[in-house]
Amino acid sequence: MAVTAWQVHATLSRSAANGPGTRFVVWTQGCSLGCEGCFNPETHDAGGTARTAEDVAAEALRTPDAEGVTVSGGEPLEQPAPLREFCALIRPSGLGIVVLSGFSRAEIEENPDRLAAVQDADMVIAGRYNPRLHLGTGLRGSSNKEYWAITSRYSADDFAAVPEIEIVISADGTFSMTGMHAWGGP
Ligand code: SF4
Repeated sequence: MAVTAWQVHATLSRSAANGPGTRFVVWTQGCSLGCEGCFNPETHDAGGTARTAEDVAAEALRTPDAEGVTVSGGEPLEQPAPLREFCALIRPSGLGIVVLSGFSRAEIEENPDRLAAVQDADMVIAGRYNPRLHLGTGLRGSSNKEYWAITSRYSADDFAAVPEIEIVISADGTFSMTGMHAWGGP
């Protein structure tokens, strides 16, 4: 398998606010979609940390008792090659895979690289964030975004009970927040 650099904003080993159950989360770095009201502008530029899908997958697979992984951003599908590699590495483990994207389902389906990148995912939550249609629940961010079930593992109902916000206390005592009420995207 090819090894492609993956610009990553952050990872979180255990989250309860980024999809069903306990999940490993990776936020990719870089987004050019420019949604009004995006709560996560620090993920827009092309910085971040250069990692590989293998490295991040190995970190994800060390998470004990996880239900799955969530890939968020930034815009994960602006780096389709490492996303595809990551999903392919996670798939054999049996962990569920959720991808949050600002691209619509049609924009993903019409682009072969984007479509290939989510072929091993279970659920894609797709579409631009719209602050006038904001939702605090369900991980969609705004009601125009679409649950696109690639497999039957998850349905929209599985996301209804996802907490709106999560406060993470790091080993060094610092606090951070994740979850859809903490930021809007992708
Ligand atoms: S909401 Fe998501 S897709 Fe939209 S600008 Fe922000 S990071 Fe990009």
